[in-house]
Amino acid sequence: MPNELFRSLPSVERMLTTSTATRLSVELGRDRVRDILREIIEDLRQEISAGSRQISVEQDSGAGDLADVMAATVERELTERAKIAATPSLRRVINATGVVIHTNLGRAPLAKAALDAMSEVSSHYSNLEYDLELGERGRREVHCQRLIARLAGAESAIVANNNAAAVLLVLNTLAQSGEVIVSRGELIEIGGSFRIPEVMEKSGARLREVGTTNRTRIEDYANAITGDTRLIMRVHPSNYRIVGFTSRPSVEEVAELANRADIPSFEDLGSGCLIDLTPYGVVDEPVVAKSIEAGISVVSFSGDKMLGGPQAGIIAGTDSIISRVRRNPLMRALRVDKMTYSALEATMRLYERGVAQSEVPVVRAIAASAEELASRAESFARLLEQRTSFLARLRDGRSVVGGGSAPGVLLKTTLVAVSHARLTADSIASALRRHKIPVIARVEDGELVIDLRTVRQDEETVIIDALAATVSAGLSQEVAAAARDV
Ligand SMILES: *Cc1c(COP(=O)(O)O)cnc(C)c1O
Repeated sequence: MPNELFRSLPSVERMLTTSTATRLSVELGRDRVRDILREIIEDLRQEISAGSRQISVEQDSGAGDLADVMAATVERELTERAKIAATPSLRRVINATGVVIHTNLGRAPLAKAALDAMSEVSSHYSNLEYDLELGERGRREVHCQRLIARLAGAESAIVANNNAAAVLLVLNTLAQSGEVIVSRGELIEIGGSFRIPEVMEKSGARLREVGTTNRTRIEDYANAITGDTRLIMRVHPSNYRIVGFTSRPSVEEVAELANRADIPSFEDLGSGCLIDLTPYGVVDEPVVAKSIEAGISVVSFSGDKMLGGPQAGIIAGTDSIISRVRRNPLMRALRVDKMTYSALEATMRLYERGVAQSEVPVVRAIAASAEELASRAESFARLLEQRTSFLARLRDGRSVVGGGSAPGVLLKTTLVAVSHARLTADSIASALRRHKIPVIARVEDGELVIDLRTVRQDEETVIIDALAATVSAGLSQEVAAAARDV
């Protein structure tokens, strides 16, 4: 029998002529399809050797001889594997976790205006480094410069690849071989192993720690100033809070001390809130313009956290500091491309026009009211129960801002707790992740919970379809049977 099976294996070249292979070659390229066929046939060969592949020709199936059955098996397998091969590695997912700036899920989704601008600029030639007035070479740094400066209330601005790069650039530009005074309470590590002391070391600046973990006074800074001091740095402790017996000088006090000593001051703001979000319950997130107004010489913040734009590190400050940063050779290594400039500019214009609350997805998600979320959850639950065999129960819950921003802030929401008589919460969650458009949801106390705060309205039906598919695809025979009864 094994010999017969081996003989019935089709050749790669023959399989390449089938209509399935021809069709898939258009999508994947002929070489890729050939490689997949080679793998399939090799796998079959090994299964036959191991005796684990049983293939029989049913008398009444009309399937023809063994070779035909084998070819059909290979063709079926080819379709399956081609589907996996054609799936991009980086894909869209639906964020049903309620974590607004989810670092693992790509942080901020972009506003429509940002996408349009990016597509327009990137699918054509652009004036990235061309001065249209003068008809000669221009500088890319000019593109968002005035807009950022205006929104931050600063003299000038420049954009780097991300805020980690921005911090490195500022420290290297202003403090290489000198000392930077930082409070011990602000020597933070944020996700992705960004640690202030380590970035400081790489920048060539020396860290001068002052104060204690929970309390630092302005005199601690003052007493640490020497002839080697190049910069006083303040860091927004984004992802953690020291509570209890604590104190830290105000931004005004730090700025004033630095000005008196004729030393520049720098604040790493982390998130980069351009507008006051306290009406929505986001307290503790500093607004960029406030720091500049307080007299800080230069600030930096992320483009894709609270601001809701593309990945970028924005530096805003005095003319003289920004031009020094611009001339730093590191700038060439850390600069951004045209896609970032266009998306950032378009996003910032939404702030300028005062429509960020409705147009910037991150801000819109944060600003969504408890009433709006409750009513969406209600209709979602109703629709889900109508269309599937799932049970949907509403629960009071809390969404978080995430992305290392506003750690203590909990935004009131209504959760949809989804359960099924035959499925565990973990198995539903795992099936949702394997959906065509993967859906990421939380499992809490043995229940799958969906927070619609981070779900776009038009994504709700996708989630319902995904849940329906979870049942009908059948995680087990029993489940498939149960679903048919519904
Ligand atoms: C997030 C953050 C950074 C790093 O910003 P990226 O844009 O992720 O590089 C630096 N400092 C603080 C305080 C942050 O919160």
